[in-house]
Amino acid sequence: MTDTRRVVILGSGPAGLTAAIYAARAQLFPLVIAGELSSTGDQPGGQLMLTTDVENFPGFANGIMGPELMQAFREQAARFGAESVTTKASRIDLSSRPFEIWTGKSGATTPSYGAETLIVATGAQSLMLDVPNEGRLLGYGVSTCATCDGFFFRDRPIAVVGGGDTAMEEALFLTRFARSVTVIHRRGELRASKVMQQRAFANERIDFLWNTSVTEVIGDTKVSGVRVQNTLTEDESTLQVEGLFVAIGHRPNTELFKGQLEMDDSGYLRTFERTRTNVDGVFACGDVQDDRYRQAITAAGSGCMAAIDAERWLDEREAPAG
Ligand code: NDP
Repeated sequence: MTDTRRVVILGSGPAGLTAAIYAARAQLFPLVIAGELSSTGDQPGGQLMLTTDVENFPGFANGIMGPELMQAFREQAARFGAESVTTKASRIDLSSRPFEIWTGKSGATTPSYGAETLIVATGAQSLMLDVPNEGRLLGYGVSTCATCDGFFFRDRPIAVVGGGDTAMEEALFLTRFARSVTVIHRRGELRASKVMQQRAFANERIDFLWNTSVTEVIGDTKVSGVRVQNTLTEDESTLQVEGLFVAIGHRPNTELFKGQLEMDDSGYLRTFERTRTNVDGVFACGDVQDDRYRQAITAAGSGCMAAIDAERWLDEREAPAG
C-alpha cells in the first residue's frame, strides 16, 4: 500500500528544510525526500554543502560553515517531527491527487509515497568545468558564488570563467575586493548583454583572456593558479591566481517534472500567486524557481512561504462545508 502524506517535500537544502520546519510546526508531519549523493552532481543539503564559510546568513555574526548550517537546519526540522528519507525521487505523477512519487531505482508499479500536497525544492546546480582539481579545491579557492565568497579574496588576483551575464556580474562584483580580475572566455566575443559588456569593458580592474579554456586548477590545499590553453593556437600557459570563479551557467533540477510542471526556457519552474505552480496542490521554492537571487536566505524565505501556502491550501479543502 502506498504511504500517503499530507505534505511531501522534495529536496533538503535551505528551501526544503525551511518548508519542513514550518510544515512540521503546523502539525502536518511532512516527509522530506532528501536526495542522495551522486556522481552527476546531486547533493543532499544543496549547494551550501559545497561551500566553506557562510558569512552572509543573518544570525551568525561570526559566520558558519555551510555543512554545519545545513546540519542545524536538519536538526531543527527533525525536532518538530519532520521525517527525512535519504533517497531520490525517480518518477512523479502529478496527473491526479494524491500525487504519486516513486523513489530509488525500483521499477515498482506501486509508488513509494502519495502526497496530498507537494513542495518542490530540488534546487539548481552550478555547471562546472570538469577539469582536474576543480572539485577537490571547491571551497578552497574555487567558487561558484562571488556574493558568497568574494570577500575572502581581498587584494588577491582572481579569475572568472565564462562570457555570459553571470560571469560579467561576478567579475564586476569581485573588483570591489580583488587586486585583479581576469575573465577567461573560450571565444573571442562575450555572450553577455551589451550593457553588461560595456560595464565590464569600462572597468579598469578587469582584464580579458580571449579564446582561452581552463584545462586544470593548480594548488595543493588552495588554489595557486590555473593552467590555460589558447583555443586557436593550442598554446598552454599558467595564470597565477588565488581564486577561480566558475560562472558558466546553472541547471535547475527539474528533469523529473518535464511535461507536468510549467518551466521557462532555461528549465526553471514557473510559479504563480507566490509559490503555486500550474498544478493545484504543488508548490515550488528555492533555486528551482529562482534564477535571480540564488541565495540561501532567499531560498529559506521562499521555503517558509511554500509551507504556509500548502497549509492554507489543505485548510481550504478540509474546512467543513457551510
Ligand atoms: P549563459 O548560458 O548565458 O552563459 C554561459 C557562459 O559560459 C557562456 O559565455 C558560455 O560560453 C560559457 N560556457 C558554458 N560552458 C562552458 C564551458 N564548459 N567552458 C567554458 N565556458 C563555458 O549563462 P549565465 O549564467 O551567464 O546566464 C543565464 C541567464 O541568466 C541568461 O539569460 C542571462 O542573461 C541571465 N542573467 C542576467 C543577469 C542580469 O541581467 N543582470 C545576471 C545573470 C544572469 P559561450 O558564450 O561560448 O557559449
